[in-house]
Amino acid sequence: MSRGKIPEEILDAIRERTAIEQIIGEYVPLKRAGRHFKGLCPFHHEKTPSFTVNTDLQIFKCFGCGESGNVFNFLMKYENISFFEAVERLAASAGISLPDTPVESKQKRDETSHILDAMQAAWKKYIRCLQSDPAAESARRYLSERGITEPLCKRYGLGFAPDQWDFLSTSLQIPRQILVKSGLSILGSESNKIYDRFRNRIMFPIRDYRKGHVIAFGGRTLGDDPAKYINSPESPIYHKSNVLYGLYEAHKEIRTAREVILVEGYFDRISLDRAGFPNAVAPCGTAITADQIRLLKRFADKVYLLFDSDEAGMKAARKALELCLSAGLETRAIPLPEGMDPDDVLRTLGPDGLKEHISRAVSGLDFLIRSASKRFDLSQARGRREAVDDMIPFLVNVENSIDRGAFISRIADLLSVPVESVLELCRRHRMRHIKENAVSTGEANNSNNSNTDPATDQLDVVERDLFCFLLQNPDYLSWDHNPLTAESMRSGMGKEIYRLLRDTFRDMGQLPVARILERTEDKRVQRILIDLFDDPNRNRRLVDRDSGTVFQSLVHAFRERDLRNELSFIKKQLSKCDISDVDADFLLRRQLEILEELNAKSSLDAG
Ligand code: ATP
Ligand code: MN
Repeated sequence: MSRGKIPEEILDAIRERTAIEQIIGEYVPLKRAGRHFKGLCPFHHEKTPSFTVNTDLQIFKCFGCGESGNVFNFLMKYENISFFEAVERLAASAGISLPDTPVESKQKRDETSHILDAMQAAWKKYIRCLQSDPAAESARRYLSERGITEPLCKRYGLGFAPDQWDFLSTSLQIPRQILVKSGLSILGSESNKIYDRFRNRIMFPIRDYRKGHVIAFGGRTLGDDPAKYINSPESPIYHKSNVLYGLYEAHKEIRTAREVILVEGYFDRISLDRAGFPNAVAPCGTAITADQIRLLKRFADKVYLLFDSDEAGMKAARKALELCLSAGLETRAIPLPEGMDPDDVLRTLGPDGLKEHISRAVSGLDFLIRSASKRFDLSQARGRREAVDDMIPFLVNVENSIDRGAFISRIADLLSVPVESVLELCRRHRMRHIKENAVSTGEANNSNNSNTDPATDQLDVVERDLFCFLLQNPDYLSWDHNPLTAESMRSGMGKEIYRLLRDTFRDMGQLPVARILERTEDKRVQRILIDLFDDPNRNRRLVDRDSGTVFQSLVHAFRERDLRNELSFIKKQLSKCDISDVDADFLLRRQLEILEELNAKSSLDAG
């Protein structure tokens, strides 16, 4: 239901009778700070409160992560519910009754509840089938061979979808369009037929962790279907990027232990329970997402990664580690014997064997180093460099700067590379990230020289000087030690002209005006070139020194211009209130570096 559908007076009435600080205070401990309230932001990891509730404006805002909104938005985000649900809840607690819902939204709500009903009915069928249908004999045998006992089947609500195209559609009294919308059925190509999506599969119900509703299924084939698993598609009730398999069954245990084990597969999840670890979850047939990690963070402080030890598993584990680290979760990884997944370990070594492995969890950093040493040859300088590159994204995401420093110096130590080079790489990586963010939010300034438009921008002074010089000394265009490239030009126009000069010189060994002009259609470029040839400075500035010295000073001017641009970019970023601690850290470090370089330059110039 969209916000426009609920009468504004009702929303106002709810707002009036709702104290935003009280509602949010139920989730986040808040302290009064002047006229407002402050607390630790529930939407990102932080140690000093930057989450504020402004009671005058009836809004919340986090200066750390930028999350903001009114009391409805807070509930939607925190509880992962729709606008309508948030309104319903607040209306109920404010003692306001909602008017009859408008037709369209009522339809939508009816649809949602019909889909939920369909899932529930299908689930019952699948369970009944597994328990007693003769067609499920092989499924029962399969499960018992894999050590899944009846009580476990019950606890996880496992079922069986027989090898039939119309098991659901003939036995459930549910409208076809609901079966299709729920993902249980697929519309055939002669669109009057529907057939079951899941056939000859062990069915794992995926449940909403709050209410236990079945919102999706994963199904493992019993036959030789090339798709070993298939999963429900997205639907009005199922958004796979923020659902975790097993969270419903385990959320109490996870909350108590504040620890969770993250595995890859459905069977792995159930195996852990068999080994005495009920506090485990798995994504539902997709790579783990930031939303899922955020969800976990509401229940746990510590995550154990227990992934297959094959290449895909290691890659998935590294991704999960990166997300966990940047969410500020304490993360450990559990190495498994080559080629095994948790379920294999349980089956071959028994519960104690699996426990033994879990007790040998290593820190995230140790895991990274192990994984790097498998993929790179650390006895070679080149392999060590690649390993550092590989680990940079993890290092920069460690929230706490002391931990990060320790991480960085350990890596440097282990790979025998200087700490400064690792730091430098981290800094570059983070700066790139900050700039990319600035570009995507459309507020990058011209220190970013990638997205410039040749039609609108202009040459700046250093570019103009450089071109005047090159027209007279074209040899420098192909000089091996020339550090400048088309990419060094800030303006799109500059890049265009640099390329034109370089290519003409490469093809002709000289730079005759007429020929250069012929090589471009762009009138503006032509006009600027003619201008450059006519530039009175062209002769004056450049004659009295030898060309090598002039070129060096041009190169310096470019460097200085870039540094100054970067400096103003950094200043702008630092003055923003929603910058994260990690970014501020890197920006300040980079600022210092630039200032030092500029200082050194100016003392050189003076001397
Ligand atoms: P099993 O032990 O039954 O052979 P597994 O749990 O070892 O299966 P993996 O192949 O390791 O399965 O896959 C792990 C998880 O990835 C599965 O539980 C499933 O969620 C998902 N998955 C695997 N294969 C597919 C597929 N073809 N399509 C979609 N998801 C899949
Ligand atoms: Mn397996």
